[in-house]
Amino acid sequence: MIILLLTSLAIAPVWSDSIHWDYDGAESPENWGKLSDKFKLCELGKTQSPINIKNLSIGSPANIEFDYRSTPLEVVNNGHSIQVNYAKGSTVTIDGEKYALLQFHFHSPSEHQINAQPAPMELHLVHSRIPKNGETNSANQLAVLGVMLEQGVANPLIAEVWKNIPAAGTTKKVSTSLINAINLLPKSKSYFSYDGSLTTPPCSEGVKWKVFTQPLTISPEQIATFTKLYPNDARPVQRLNERMVELHL
Ligand SMILES: [Zn+2]
Repeated sequence: MIILLLTSLAIAPVWSDSIHWDYDGAESPENWGKLSDKFKLCELGKTQSPINIKNLSIGSPANIEFDYRSTPLEVVNNGHSIQVNYAKGSTVTIDGEKYALLQFHFHSPSEHQINAQPAPMELHLVHSRIPKNGETNSANQLAVLGVMLEQGVANPLIAEVWKNIPAAGTTKKVSTSLINAINLLPKSKSYFSYDGSLTTPPCSEGVKWKVFTQPLTISPEQIATFTKLYPNDARPVQRLNERMVELHL
């Protein structure tokens, strides 16, 4: 008897960077700015991320509206982290500006610190601003929502992602598994905000950071699954310089 196995699994290479960088050795974060002219901001930028969150001022009331939809699971093991790509159509509105959710990914330990305290992991939800009607100059403005992941109860969505981690350099699509990133947000929607950068090369600035004050929990086993693959994929905290961090309650 012949059994035909219909699988919804697709494997494709994801290596695209031509310039290699890393978290340790000669290509570690201290040297990112020297690896390429395109990475200069990593060394010379004045509004870099992540930061130690402290010396807060109270900002306007928390104002993020979520319109996240379910998406077929697509997990990328990109050699620096585990990333989940998001289908078009999920948005957030932050202070009246609309952003599309592109992907989320993980760091261990956390990149941001709150009063000099890191968490075991951090989740980043990456969004790109949707241009308004008639707007022409809308160069790739990003907003990243950060969620600190503390040790505790396991997270079911992260369990589903971890079950489907492909080999390094590949992508796995599981069209039978629908996930919704709304399940990766803490109950309290209070957050810290500041203007920063990408935390990986090319360290582009002009990124609107919103880091939730309340962490989400992830089990010790779930942390171990990730750190076995990526024991350290966190850029060290950067100088705050003239920037303000605001707390939005
Ligand atoms: Zn990140």
